[in-house]
Amino acid sequence: MNIALIAHDKKKQDMINFTVAYRPVLKEHSLYATGTTGLKIEEATGLSVFRFQSGPLGGDQQIGAMIADNKMDLIIFFKDPLTAQPHEPDIAALIRLCDVYQIPLASNMASAELFIHALERGDFQWRHVVRSKGEDLK
Ligand code: PGA
Repeated sequence: MNIALIAHDKKKQDMINFTVAYRPVLKEHSLYATGTTGLKIEEATGLSVFRFQSGPLGGDQQIGAMIADNKMDLIIFFKDPLTAQPHEPDIAALIRLCDVYQIPLASNMASAELFIHALERGDFQWRHVVRSKGEDLK
């Protein structure tokens, strides 16, 4: 599965804790992240993460483009609900695309933990089917 990981600044430590705790699950998948989040995950876990631009510089939009291309299977996005972000429109666009394309999106640790257990169980295998159908249409 292609998994996108994004964390706002005040949530980056949560993302580090999360990826360290679930490293054994995450290492089986292809990881993508916005710039700073990806760097911190790589440093903390040693996992290889494809890093897009930093969020405020377009990283959320790049992940959104992958969603529109049917290439992203799961988004874990630890949003900071108490701090205004300069790139709110990009964040809203990313969330909107998840809803347009029915891509699972966890916006906090509680839902992300459920997703990770579901991922471990194989509950996201339907994404392979959806993705292969998308390939057929091309
Ligand atoms: P960052 O971007 O990982 O580059 O900090 C995340 C964001 O703020 O959207």
